[in-house]
Amino acid sequence: MSVEPAAKPMVEGIFTPAGSDGLAHLLCSRCACGAVAFPARERCAACSGTDLVVEEVPNEGTIYSWTTSPGRTVRVVAQVQFANGLMAQGHVTAEPAAVRIGQRVRTVAVPVDYADDGTPLLSYAFEPVEEAA
Ligand SMILES: [Zn+2]
Repeated sequence: MSVEPAAKPMVEGIFTPAGSDGLAHLLCSRCACGAVAFPARERCAACSGTDLVVEEVPNEGTIYSWTTSPGRTVRVVAQVQFANGLMAQGHVTAEPAAVRIGQRVRTVAVPVDYADDGTPLLSYAFEPVEEAA
């Protein structure tokens, strides 16, 4: 999926469409105690510490669980487990029949809206990198 150069995240600080390796990454906070949080926090929920840094979450993760969101269009919402310890929720760019627990997914930037000046606004989603079968 190509992303127009002018496109930018709809909400800053949640994810980067092109991180240090050019791929999309969620942004989480990591506390000195090891706790990770998404979206990034200024105070740790585990130890109340404030020694937190923002880091890129690995581009790929594994579906831990998933469900469908109600609405006119059925959309898959998944909890995705990442190797840095983070569990994050987001939409999956696949039909329910093509999704399974344990499936590898990658973080991608998807256009969701336009700013008043026409700038495409992006959100993140998870895209399967392997078949569900
Ligand atoms: Zn902590």
